[in-house]
Amino acid sequence: MTAPTRLRERIYMSSPDVGAREEELVVEALRSGWIAPLGPMVDEFERQLAERCGRRYAVALSSGTAALHLALLNVGAAPGTVVIVPTMTFAATANAVVYTGAEPVFVDCDPATGNLDPALLDQALTALRREGARVAAVVPVDLLGRSVDHTAIGPVCAEHGVPVISDAAESLGASHAGRPAGSFGIAAAVSFNGNKIMTTSGGGVLLTDDAAFADRVRYLSTQARQPAVHYEHTEVGYNYRLSNLLAALGLAQLERLDAMIGRRRALRAEYDRLFADVAGVSLFQRVGDQYDNCWLTAILVDPASAGWAADDLRSALDVCNIESRPLWKPMHQQPVFAGARSFLTGAADRLFATGLTLPSGSALGPEERSEVMGVIGDFLRDRR
Ligand SMILES: *Cc1c(COP(=O)(O)O)cnc(C)c1O
Repeated sequence: MTAPTRLRERIYMSSPDVGAREEELVVEALRSGWIAPLGPMVDEFERQLAERCGRRYAVALSSGTAALHLALLNVGAAPGTVVIVPTMTFAATANAVVYTGAEPVFVDCDPATGNLDPALLDQALTALRREGARVAAVVPVDLLGRSVDHTAIGPVCAEHGVPVISDAAESLGASHAGRPAGSFGIAAAVSFNGNKIMTTSGGGVLLTDDAAFADRVRYLSTQARQPAVHYEHTEVGYNYRLSNLLAALGLAQLERLDAMIGRRRALRAEYDRLFADVAGVSLFQRVGDQYDNCWLTAILVDPASAGWAADDLRSALDVCNIESRPLWKPMHQQPVFAGARSFLTGAADRLFATGLTLPSGSALGPEERSEVMGVIGDFLRDRR
């Protein structure tokens, strides 16, 4: 295979998808004078997010990580407690636990979805409680936009008396059992980072139905200022609020969210056709994905029956200036978390070894899409 001769911009897995409407609302926010930093667009963004996610309250924050951090503080995560996190996730989930001084404990996943394994979670909670550990929270992650099996996980956590904080960073617009992602747990965190299903360039939201929880997050996210004419502080706070300018971007993105999900779904269907008859390759999370937001599409490659490995395709794409990447490297394999307590089955290790995430963004134009499909098609033909 030869690299394309003409210079083309690199094709990324998930680039921001912004256009005229985003420009219009950001300019409107600028001209309104609400720059410093909160304003009416933050209020409106929160109102729409709460409605979209079936929640009473939404607090717009500077990142999804900030939302996780404050939610964890609110349920008492602190030194001397542990928090259960899936090992198959992005590091931010575990990092937020460490910020509180609590210790992350990693639990393996269901091989079909990559999401927290409910039976193993039950075993982990039972073992930890038997040892007298104080478990502050369980933080299930909606991997690549597939909602966790909350129908199974909710009762397990309730039985052990441990609150659920839902990491819905990747799953805005997905649903489970007829309820939107972000509506589960005592609180949920969504991310609007640049590579997510929609973006505020950087941002996040904390969602909850509990007024006191929302008030407390609002307070902690604005430097923990007491109501006084001077600056009065009785606790250490954070500077975690989303600005009005970024909320303007978010409002435009929310208008287009369903269309953007539709484009990602169409791309997944295209990959499904491309790999349909390829031995040893399956589309990850394909079963049941009518409820997913299809944030990222990944394949699993069994080298023994395919005759090639996921990394071979990654290299072939990279030569053509197209980005692809293995699935999240499990947290228990990360040097920074070496020695952390883990409950493992090997499922996450296998997904990491065999998975490849492909260009999935809604901003990909028809030319880029056919370029990606063409390069993969050539790769597959060469190996038949
Ligand atoms: C992106 C992401 C986060 C962090 O969100 P930021 O807005 O980037 O801080 C947390 N958890 C998961 C699973 C994510 O994918």
